[in-house]
Amino acid sequence: MEEITDIIETENDRETYETARQMGEKATGGEVICLTGDLGTGKTVFAQGFADGVGVTESVNSPTFTIVQVYESGRIPLYHFDVYRIGDSEEMFEVGFEEYVYGDGVTLIEWAELIEDILPKEYTRILIEKDLSMGFDHRRITISRVYDRQSN
Ligand code: ADP
Ligand code: MG
Repeated sequence: MEEITDIIETENDRETYETARQMGEKATGGEVICLTGDLGTGKTVFAQGFADGVGVTESVNSPTFTIVQVYESGRIPLYHFDVYRIGDSEEMFEVGFEEYVYGDGVTLIEWAELIEDILPKEYTRILIEKDLSMGFDHRRITISRVYDRQSN
């Protein structure tokens, strides 16, 4: 099941960063946050703000060529995945996906829809969309709670 919990409109990358930073401040560990949206909508900007809220001091970039980047400098570990180039979900197990998802830290996954079949039963989905009629830098961020998934 999926339930929308919030819809936030931002007008520039700083507002998206700030929205994410506030979410990151509340993270306690064990959360799985799936970032969905076309290329260039702001998934990595969101990840950067979220990491800031967790207290990560390293600079956060898209881990496109490594699948996962682990940041340990914050209050809790942050596991940042970008699965855009993943061949199939099997590759995720090879990089230790399950140890991360069921670990002590908070997991952020860019392009999570590509590995939907192996996502946990519960997660938070962040959908970022452009609306060009509202301006080039406008984004709509829809936050949903996904739970009681049938397949896992
Ligand atoms: P993705 O990871 O989804 O491919 P990025 O976060 O790497 O996207 O890039 C988003 C781009 O869009 C950045 O250049 C950012 O400055 C720009 N941008 C413009 N407006 C916004 C906004 N409201 N929120 C987030 N990013 C924005
Ligand atoms: Mg990205």
